[in-house]
Amino acid sequence: MNDKDDLPFARRVVLGLDEAEAELLRRHTELSDLTAKLTLAQEQLLQSEKLASIGQLAAGVAHEINNPISYVFSNFATLGGYIDGMLDMLAAYQAAEQHIADPKVLQGIRALRASVDIDFVTADIPVLMGESREGIERVRKIVQDLKDFSRADAHQEWQWSDLHHGIDSTLNIVANEVKYRADVVKEYGDIPDIECLPSQLNQVFMNIIVNAAHAMTERRGRITIRTAREGEMVRVDIADNGSGIPKAIQGRIFDPFFTTKPTGSGTGLGLSLSYGIVQKHHGRIELDSPPGGGATFSIFLPVRHDASADSNKDPHP
Ligand code: ADP
Repeated sequence: MNDKDDLPFARRVVLGLDEAEAELLRRHTELSDLTAKLTLAQEQLLQSEKLASIGQLAAGVAHEINNPISYVFSNFATLGGYIDGMLDMLAAYQAAEQHIADPKVLQGIRALRASVDIDFVTADIPVLMGESREGIERVRKIVQDLKDFSRADAHQEWQWSDLHHGIDSTLNIVANEVKYRADVVKEYGDIPDIECLPSQLNQVFMNIIVNAAHAMTERRGRITIRTAREGEMVRVDIADNGSGIPKAIQGRIFDPFFTTKPTGSGTGLGLSLSYGIVQKHHGRIELDSPPGGGATFSIFLPVRHDASADSNKDPHP
């Protein structure tokens, strides 16, 4: 016989109700957990779908632009050489002008020089050439970003790699972007080599570090890079004390082409590219940017790559 059977009926009812309430509460918590997981999964799915379609679009655009921009770039360099030669030639003719005996010819040349405003033109040519070269280089960089973004990477090998080594070489590459804006503090923990696509992960580190440098205000800032092992994962935190990311846009920064940078200086592809790469590693990126300013991107990567988990979840198959 159950002990509860000795209790008065009303007391048993209350006890039963308490139990039912506790059970209800437990179910409710379970349900909330499930809903949260479902929402997260849905968000991730949405993100990878967006990435997949934008990836295809980017691949097409990059392919179309790549060829013409390559020959414009190459022709431009040759043209620069020709123009330098012609300017030298012009200077020589100008120096020889005083030896022209025929006053009519001399007058004609002088009139032409005045109408063409040759001194201004000669001074302006290098400026225009410089600006144009910069413009072409910018387009090439955007095309390169688009290509990286959509790259099939089928030929890339998964390999065991030391993340500290990757972060250090990335820091060397971005030194110019960072050194006038912030000090870099490394707090490296004891982490194992991980099985990964090292050059792609370097690109993730690069995007996040450069963004951190760009987030600095006039005051010199600090970028802290922390690493640690967390069970079967390795965690890399890249924290800055810059302007921070307003709550209102935190949900959009991983979207392709989302940028708050002025036209020409941001493509808005850096973080979506990084998101795709980390997803391909079956890892995740988390952002913490409290209202007071500063942002921390935490990248979680599994030590071992589970190839059997690779599926069409990959946004850039
Ligand atoms: P882009 O750098 O070309 O703008 P990203 O995808 O790398 O593209 O970044 C998207 C946007 O996220 C940036 O324009 C910026 O508004 C925001 N962002 C990213 N990292 C930071 C950071 N560390 N601090 C402040 N804002 C950031």
